[in-house]
Formats: sequence, C-alpha cells, structure tokens
Amino acid sequence: MFDIENIRAQFPILTQTVNGKPLVYLDNGATSQKPISVLDSWQKYYTEINANVHRGIHTLSQLATEEMEIARKKVQKFINAKNDFEVIFTKGTTEGLNLIAYSMTNFIKEDDEIIISYLEHHSNIVPWQLLCERTGAKLKVIPMDENGVLRLDFLENNLSEKTKIVSFNQVSNALGVINPIEKIIEITRKNSSALIVIDGAQSVPHFKIDVQKMDCDFFVFSGHKMYAPMGTGILYGKEEILRKIQPFHGGGEMIATCTFEKTTYADLPFKFEAGTPNVGGNIALGAAVDFMENIGHENIQKHENALLEYAQKKLLEIEGLKIYGEKAKRTGVVSFNLEGIGIASDVGMILDKLGIAVRTGHHCTQPIMEFFNIAGTVRASFAVYNTFDELDILAEGVRKAQKMLG
Ligand code: PMP
Repeated sequence: MFDIENIRAQFPILTQTVNGKPLVYLDNGATSQKPISVLDSWQKYYTEINANVHRGIHTLSQLATEEMEIARKKVQKFINAKNDFEVIFTKGTTEGLNLIAYSMTNFIKEDDEIIISYLEHHSNIVPWQLLCERTGAKLKVIPMDENGVLRLDFLENNLSEKTKIVSFNQVSNALGVINPIEKIIEITRKNSSALIVIDGAQSVPHFKIDVQKMDCDFFVFSGHKMYAPMGTGILYGKEEILRKIQPFHGGGEMIATCTFEKTTYADLPFKFEAGTPNVGGNIALGAAVDFMENIGHENIQKHENALLEYAQKKLLEIEGLKIYGEKAKRTGVVSFNLEGIGIASDVGMILDKLGIAVRTGHHCTQPIMEFFNIAGTVRASFAVYNTFDELDILAEGVRKAQKMLG
C-alpha cells in the first residue's frame, strides 16, 4: 500500500514554513530530502560507532567496517551488481565520472574517439574534455531534436573501432528526458568495442536499476538525490575493467605494499577508495536503499509518473507556458518558461516568496540551453513525498508570477 501521509511523516523538514508559507519542496533534481531512518542511521554511527574502518583491531573499528560493508552489499543488491567489490564508494556522480576518465588515460591514444550526448550534465562533459586534452582523443556529441530526443542514427553512423568510450545519462537532469539506454547499448555493442558509461544520477531515484541486465561497463550515481546524505555516491564497474584500469587517487587504504621504489595496489574495491571514506554517510546510503526498497520501485515510479502527468496538465493550462521536452518520454522533471519573461530566476524568486522551492538557471547543462536559445528554465522536480496539492500550489504560484512580471 502506497501511503503518502506515512511517507511524508518520515521527512521532518517538510513540515516547516518558508517565508510564512508551508514549504513546497520541488527541487529534488538538485537534492532530495532525507527520511528519519537515514538521519538516524547517520547519527547512530557518530554517537555509537565512530571509528576508522579497515585498519583497526579494536571493536568499534571492526563494527564500523562491518556496517560499511553491509551498506556496500545493500547497494550491490540494489543495482544487481554481480560482486560487492564492483561497488566503489565515491563522493558522488561527479567524482565517479572523473575517476573513470582519469583511470582510462593509459588506454586512450591520439585520434581515439569518445562519444557523449547533447543532454549531458557538465560533469559528463568536462572530465572527457580533460581526457581528450591529455591524450589527443576527440570528443563527439550526439545531437538531439527539438523535443530533447537523441538522434540515435547519428550514434550508429559515428561508432567505429576508434570509439573507446560512450557515456550517456539515463535521465536528463535539465529536461527529465529518459534516454533509451537499452537501444544505445545495443547499437554501441554492435558497432564498436567501446566501453559504456551510464550516468544514473537522475535515474536511480526513480527506476529499478539492473546493471547486469543493462550490460553497461560503468554506472555512476549520487546518494544525495536518492534520500542519502550529501558526499556519498557509487561507481559500479565490471570486475575485469576495474582490475585493468589505473587508480584515481593514491594514498592510504588503496595500497597492498608501499616502498619508495614501487607500490602495489590493494584488491578491489579498495584500489579505488584511497583515504578515509565517508563511513557514516556510506552507512546512511545503505539506509536510503532500505527506505526506497521498503516503499518499492513500482510504487515510487507509479506515484512519480502520476505527479509528472498532473504537473504537466496543470502547467500547460497556463497561457504562454512552454515545457521543454514536452513530447519526450520523461520522469521527475518539468522544465519550463513563461512567454515574455526572459529571466527564469525572476519566476523562481516569486515562487520562493510563496514557499515553493524550484531551481532556475541552466542546471549545469549549458549546451541544452544554447540549443533552445535560452539562458535558463524554471525546473520543478519531484520525489516520492510530493503531492498533487503541492502541484496545484505550484501552478497557482506560476500564475501569480506571470501576473506580477507580465
Ligand atoms: N549528472 C546528472 C544527470 C546530474 O543530475 C547531476 C547532479 N545535478 C550530476 C551528474 C552531478 O552530480 P553530483 O553533483 O551529485 O556529483
């Protein structure tokens, strides 16, 4: 049974007022709120366990290690990775993508090609540009049409033995467009031997992920968009590839032996986890996995699809409102502008006065904004605790903003 009141009761932050109005939190694409179970798990670690992992002989250190490894196993099951050592704790999606791009350096040479798409977040653009600068490889970009749908014919025509990496997001953070990942992977496998990287930052909060079924080589996401603390994230990589590529950060935890002449690396996953990890955060990420699984992926998706449909209907009743990617298959996001109002942040500021939290601007996707020839959009993004009443308040707020600014 999907019980929205029960779900909302688990998020104390949602009960507050902002600017004298009940908070309507619709900025979940930027970060989600955290349920009590996640907050408790984090607090329990710091009040009862706090000790460094892996190195300690004492009881608390062993307990911290055990709890963190339990969290790793929860994530393994959550994304259906074959082995727990294929699950690497990171700071988030950005670190995961930078890790892959850096660690692949020795496998990329001049004139090799890396393919990304027009729909990417800057964190799935810049690490590849840096890799190209280091190696002389070329970056190619799959274009999209006016609905924000990728032109897969372009992908097919540009894949070759030169293509070494293909990196896409599963869901666009700016438009909410769902990319046909299965098709992209099928086309890529058929036409190249490129490694496939999936940015799951905006899909993990909404979909059931199965990395084995998907057959990607890497899958990265952030904890903070799926009800876990900030500063947590996951890099999944296939064992054989993780064994081949070079470590990202050097330091403690990631060595087997270290002398001034030569260092050998620790086994997976520790080869990629240099330094003291975010133990409390990683354990709380495990609690966030439990939170989502207790509600159930099907229930989450059903509720969020209904929210999206309702938001779209209510907003499109407003004259002069344009939704970007309106005709594309989407999840979790409505990105829009009002005719004649060029500055999205003006709308955002009025909504804030009404207690409504949305994001305005380019959403770290400047190429998408350039494509539509706009500076930014107003983005309302949903989580499992949002309600239809909140979407009515949003639509009413947008009408008010239009009146005041028009
Ligand atoms: N990719 C996508 C699709 C995102 O939405 C985000 C966050 N907005 C990122 C990457 C970067 O995630 P983080 O800032 O948590 O590292």
